[in-house]
Amino acid sequence: MGFRLGNVDGRVVLVDDRDGWHDLGALADDDGLADANTALADPERLRTLAGGLDDRSADGVLADVTLGPPVPRPRQVFAIGLNYRSHAEESGMEVPPTPLTFTKFPGCLCGPTDDVELVTATVDYEVELVVVVGTGGRDLAAEDAWDHVAGITIGQDLSDRVLQFASAPPHFDLGKSRPGYGPIGPLVVSTDRVDDPDDLALTCSVNGEVRQDDRTSGLIVGVPDLLAYLSSILELFPGDLLFTGTPAGVGMTDGRFLSPGDVLESTIEGLGTLRNRCV
Ligand code: ZN
Repeated sequence: MGFRLGNVDGRVVLVDDRDGWHDLGALADDDGLADANTALADPERLRTLAGGLDDRSADGVLADVTLGPPVPRPRQVFAIGLNYRSHAEESGMEVPPTPLTFTKFPGCLCGPTDDVELVTATVDYEVELVVVVGTGGRDLAAEDAWDHVAGITIGQDLSDRVLQFASAPPHFDLGKSRPGYGPIGPLVVSTDRVDDPDDLALTCSVNGEVRQDDRTSGLIVGVPDLLAYLSSILELFPGDLLFTGTPAGVGMTDGRFLSPGDVLESTIEGLGTLRNRCV
């Protein structure tokens, strides 16, 4: 049921239930599907192709490869600030009247096990559910917005807090877009592979100490309403990413920022774990 999609050496792969990977271009005999944005535009085709994986010998196994970001070049990356009440409270900020939307420039994206180079001493972690747009479109209705999604994955919205608030008024984009400040993955998982995509446990730990522990049902504006809101303003394209916001527990609250050598683990129920070492 459903599919899991990843990035091996820059090409799209589908992953079977034994964690074997299959080059999608070869599997479909269509090299256009080696590109993630093209592949994600047709989730039904991915579902059909994934249904035949058990009869095919895998091209390799996940344990032997270093996965890249499953969507390496999205056309647009949206991120939502202050979208869990607990996080708005710890930040000392009001819950915004409309979704506080900014971008992580796509150049910040990296793979699920990549090292992250800390540029300053004020880099903070934010585990987030990331929605990967499938068919996309304009003016989506919240009731069927999930139908326009290809899948979900884990994201780290790494944030340089000083740079994030350097301007007045604050302008979040640059402080959250240094190279490597957007680990995503390990795989894009179709939503029919989880029990309830609107209620998933998510945690973030630093060197094994759990710092964030919540559920996505705590989102103030949930995924369907976020997609309806964004698509009322602009078009959503296949492969676009939506970082949905982070719960309480970020380091900014008590000044515990990331240091070189720290191992950052970000986990969402049913989606796996990002494991990034800070250097
Ligand atoms: Zn965030």
